[in-house]
Amino acid sequence: MDLYKPTHIVLLSSPGLGHLMPIIELAKRFQIHHNFKLTILAITSQTSHTESHILKSATNPSLYNIIQIPSPNISSLLPVSATVCTRIFLTMRHSIPSIKSALTNLTLPPSALIVDIFGTEALPLALELNIPRFIYVASHAWFLSLYVYSPVLDKQIQGPYIEQKEPLKIPGCKSVQPNDLVDPMLDRYNLEYKEYLTVAKNFSKSDAILVNTWDELQHRELKALNDGDGELSSLLKVPVFAVGPLVRQAESEIGQASESVIQWLDKQPKESVVYVSFGSGGTLSNEQMNELAFGLELSEQRFVWVVRACASTTEAVDAAFFTTGSGGDGFGDELDDQIGKHLPEGFVERIKNKNVGLFLHEWAPQVTILKHPSIGGFVSHCGWGSVLESLTNGVPIIAWPLYAEQRMNAALLVEELGVAVRTVVSPGKNVVEREEIASLVRKVILVDQNGKRNHVRERVKEVRVSAEKALLQGGSSYNALSHVAKIINKQDFVCVSKNMD
Ligand code: UDP
Repeated sequence: MDLYKPTHIVLLSSPGLGHLMPIIELAKRFQIHHNFKLTILAITSQTSHTESHILKSATNPSLYNIIQIPSPNISSLLPVSATVCTRIFLTMRHSIPSIKSALTNLTLPPSALIVDIFGTEALPLALELNIPRFIYVASHAWFLSLYVYSPVLDKQIQGPYIEQKEPLKIPGCKSVQPNDLVDPMLDRYNLEYKEYLTVAKNFSKSDAILVNTWDELQHRELKALNDGDGELSSLLKVPVFAVGPLVRQAESEIGQASESVIQWLDKQPKESVVYVSFGSGGTLSNEQMNELAFGLELSEQRFVWVVRACASTTEAVDAAFFTTGSGGDGFGDELDDQIGKHLPEGFVERIKNKNVGLFLHEWAPQVTILKHPSIGGFVSHCGWGSVLESLTNGVPIIAWPLYAEQRMNAALLVEELGVAVRTVVSPGKNVVEREEIASLVRKVILVDQNGKRNHVRERVKEVRVSAEKALLQGGSSYNALSHVAKIINKQDFVCVSKNMD
């Protein structure tokens, strides 16, 4: 007698909130639309209190089961020059035995394995279990195109990429300016670059790739990745499914949402406030924090700013791996003191007295804020999660990329999609200057001399509508996810896969 066995997908998330959150959203979508059972194997970082807090609040046993796997201690294996990415790559590699053990000990045997971009070395585990295996790229299709093409660029181009005079060409896609390249390509001699190329080669060891974008947004890149005889598609060998935009909804922030923030926003005029945040880990240098504070003041526009401790170096860094804050709103003397420590003297007091700004410490209920009708712009580091949250709430972006693939994201938003303006560091300067910040904020929030609002406003509303359509039943992303679900259900992955290794 054949017993009914529910479809059970296991999703593997690498450490860091920016990796865990998109995996949770993908899991929810499979559960809600396909009624699958879902288990998330979350490799947790050793130091992140925020991550534990989010994990706790995100745990929703009726939708999915989360198994936390503590990161192995790899400190003795790390070279001095190890970047955050290298740490994550090595953490994932050394977590394979624990992942294997978790997979084999599941009460309900898995029907498919989905890993994020740092988890590709776990794909052979799916092969051992004879189940289909997928990679979820929680970023966009242009990023994926560059990634897939990187091994070719590695052979084609001599010397540092950053010194190239011409943009780097990717077949069938927009070219990438050397300055906008992803972090691992900035230094070809760093271990991070080697690890990055390994992942590029692992793409074709999956059965398909899921990407957090939608066809109407990036048709050209998706076509290049999927087009039968094209160069990219031949390199990749497996199909790409655009299933996005998968973003958190404000409801998932219940418990974090601060009443006082909402009450303050409720009192501000429509689309008059800029939200300033650099993601789960972005930090600025001391000098840059000062310029940002003075720039916001100079703009004479209202703001909500998630203030985080300055980077210890003069550079901005990705502290996602080390985040320790648990958030808090800008009311109360103690918090003011903590926030004020990072800002020019007297700034917090001036802003509070004029009641034109609100400070949040370390962490904010971001989606709740972006959804609020008073928000008119987002000064963002352009992490793809934040970008999608902004676009799906119709909020134009003041792009301030810091690390990872964020410079590419900013270029995409400004040059291709027309939904953002971008900060520029003047030649010979270390920082984005206050006048530049003020001018961009005013450009996005205010009307021009002819009484017109900046075109990014109109454009972002169009993008929001297109995103909504893609996710609706019958929309491109809805159909793409249904296709993946069918592959998993019928286990006919061998038929769709261009890869038969
Ligand atoms: N986030 C948040 N509150 C904060 C900072 C970040 O809720 O104060 C969330 C944000 O909504 C997004 C994620 O953390 O979902 C950050 O992901 P993103 O890809 O934007 O950037 P990363 O943090 O990975 O650099």
